Amino acid sequence: MAIKGEKSRAGLGRKLRMGMVGGGPGAFIGEVHRKAARMDGQVELAAGAFDIKPYRSKQMGRVLCLDRRRVYNDYQQMIEKEASLPAAERIDFVSITTPNNWHFPIARDFLKAGFHVMCEKPITLTLREAKELQKIVRQTRKVFGLMHTYTGYPMVKLGRDMVRQGDLGRILKIVVQYPQGWLIHPIERQGQPQAVWRTDPKQSGSAGCIGDIGSHAENLAEYISGLQIREICADITTFVKGRRLDDDGNCLLRFNKGAKGLLHSSQISIGEENNLAIWVYGDKRSLEWHQEHPNYLYVREIDGPVQVWRRGNDYVAAKSPAAGRATRIPFGHPEAYIEAFANIYGNFTDTIRARILRRKPTELELDFPKAEDGVRGMAFIETVVASSKSKRKWMKMKS
Ligand code: NAD
Repeated sequence: MAIKGEKSRAGLGRKLRMGMVGGGPGAFIGEVHRKAARMDGQVELAAGAFDIKPYRSKQMGRVLCLDRRRVYNDYQQMIEKEASLPAAERIDFVSITTPNNWHFPIARDFLKAGFHVMCEKPITLTLREAKELQKIVRQTRKVFGLMHTYTGYPMVKLGRDMVRQGDLGRILKIVVQYPQGWLIHPIERQGQPQAVWRTDPKQSGSAGCIGDIGSHAENLAEYISGLQIREICADITTFVKGRRLDDDGNCLLRFNKGAKGLLHSSQISIGEENNLAIWVYGDKRSLEWHQEHPNYLYVREIDGPVQVWRRGNDYVAAKSPAAGRATRIPFGHPEAYIEAFANIYGNFTDTIRARILRRKPTELELDFPKAEDGVRGMAFIETVVASSKSKRKWMKMKS
C-alpha cells in the first residue's frame, strides 16, 4: 500500500507544529483532535492553553509530556509567547476545542497574530460573529478549518461524488437525522461537564440541540447534495423541565433547485447514541449512509437490487479519488470517527504545507470545511430558532 500523502507531504521536511486551546483534563473532544491530527505522523503537539483553569492546563501539559515553558495559563499568554519565538520553533496552527462562546475571540486573535486555525463547530456564538470571522480569515489570508467531522468520512465523500457525477439524477428529497438520548435527564444540574455548558445560552448560543448536533446534520446534507437550504419551517422543544435551551428539533426544509427535505435532531431520544444518518433521493437513484456503520454506502434504483459500496475497495477510489485518499487500511478493518477527524486534519494541514511551500493547494487538499460552512451553520441555527418562535413558520434562511 502507498504511504498516505507521500508525495505532497515530503516537501516540507518537518512536522507541522500544533497548539491547542481547550482539551484539558476530562474534556471530550480535545483528545480526539490530538489523536487525529497526529495520526499520519505529520503533526506534533508543541504548545497549549488546555483548560480554563491554569493549574489544570499545567496538569494536562504534564500528562502530554510537553515542554512546560510551552504550556500556558490562557490563550492570550499563548499568543504573546508563541509569536515571540523564532519562526523555526513557534506553532504553525492552533486547534480550538473550547465551548462555543470562546471560538470567536480565540480564533480572531490567533488569526490576527498570524497563525492558521482549526476551530470546533459551531464556528461562533452568533451569525454576526461568524461573518466577522469570515472577513478576518479573508483579510489575514490564513488557513481556517472547521471541524464538521462527518464530511471527513470516505463514504460521505463517495456519496457527494456520486451526486456530482449525476448518478442520482435530479435531487428531489433529503432526509437527515441526528438523534441522541443522553440529555433525557437534567444531568447539567448534577454538574456533568459536557451538559453544563451545552445547556447554558451564554456558552452554547441561542440553540441547544439544534446548534450542537442539528448543525452537523445541516452541514452533511449540504455537503453530500451540493444544494443549499433556502427556507426552513422549524419546531424546537425543551422537553426537560427547567432546561434553558432546546433538547429536540424538527425541521422541514426547502433547498435550491426545488429539492425538499426533513431534518430532525434530538438529545432526548432514549436509546439513541449518535444515530446520524442521511437519505438522498434523486430521480434516478437514492443513497443512504449511517454514521454508526460508516464503512458502507447503500445505493438503490427503481428496478435493481440494493448496491452496498464498501470502504477500502479499489472501485470506491476509482469512483471517488477523495474517498480513496481518505482511506488508510484495507476493507473489512473498520475505520470511523477518529479517522474522519484525521482526514479533515490531513487536508487542512496539506493546505497549510502548500501555503508554506508557496504551492497552490489541489482541489482534493482543499476538501475540508471552512469559514463559509461556519457562516451557513450559524445562519441555519438562527433561522431555526426564529422560525420556531414565529407564527409565520416558513422563514427564508438568514444570510
Ligand atoms: P468539554 O466541556 O468536554 O471541554 C471543554 C474544554 O475547554 C475544557 O477542558 C475547558 O476547561 C476548556 N476551556 C474552556 N474555556 C477555555 C478557555 N477560555 N481557554 C482554554 N480552555 C478552555 O467540551 P467538548 O464536549 O469537548 O466540546 C468542546 C467543543 O467541541 C464545543 O464547541 C463542541 O461543540 C465541539 N464538539 C465537536 C464535536 C465534533 O464532532 N466535531 C464533538 C464534540 C464536541
